[in-house]
Amino acid sequence: MINVLMFGPPGSGKGTQSVTLAEKYNFLHLSTGDMLRAELAAATELGKKMEAIMAAGELVPDDVVIAMIAHKIDTTTGRAGFVFDGFPRTVEQAEALEKMLEKRKMKIDLMLVLEVNDAELMDRMQKRAMVSGRADDADEAVINNRIAVYRAKTEPVIEYGRRAGVARIVNGVGTIDQIFARLCNHIETVL
Ligand code: ADP
Repeated sequence: MINVLMFGPPGSGKGTQSVTLAEKYNFLHLSTGDMLRAELAAATELGKKMEAIMAAGELVPDDVVIAMIAHKIDTTTGRAGFVFDGFPRTVEQAEALEKMLEKRKMKIDLMLVLEVNDAELMDRMQKRAMVSGRADDADEAVINNRIAVYRAKTEPVIEYGRRAGVARIVNGVGTIDQIFARLCNHIETVL
């Protein structure tokens, strides 16, 4: 099993690329954002609790996403690996993931970090707001907060990946196909 972490700020294209990578390599695409939005849409107890946090662009508690991921890992069969999209978003989540994988005789094989400048990010997010219908995409202050939360809490995870020797910086500006090819090149090195 190959475990790939997709990294990058909001609007960097993680979601788009993760879906296509998962298809190509028979990985399961695990997006904590999608899982949480499904809870909201189904109006579960958890979803109701998380709604305000997500709408403000803050992070939901670590234990919530860690439990969701553990459940998915344990109930998945027939895949060549996982592509984690939007998780881990804190160093605590990264440590929890590593322990979870260790227990199951797996490890983090690769961390792909999409680099995109702030002006381009803002532009993409505003365009996405018109089609995504996501409350957290519509408001510039919320977008700015998500970027700030990313810099403060999620970027340190890259250092964690660097120390583990698995981080690879990928230019996230270009056509979707160009970026996809760059990501595939890195994945081929760990297959
Ligand atoms: P983006 O497209 O901005 O990368 P996501 O779709 O991954 O955002 O997540 C949307 C929101 O869901 C986040 O702003 C956050 O509130 C919550 N969320 C998603 N993943 C996590 C996580 N791993 N830890 C905490 N909160 C999360």
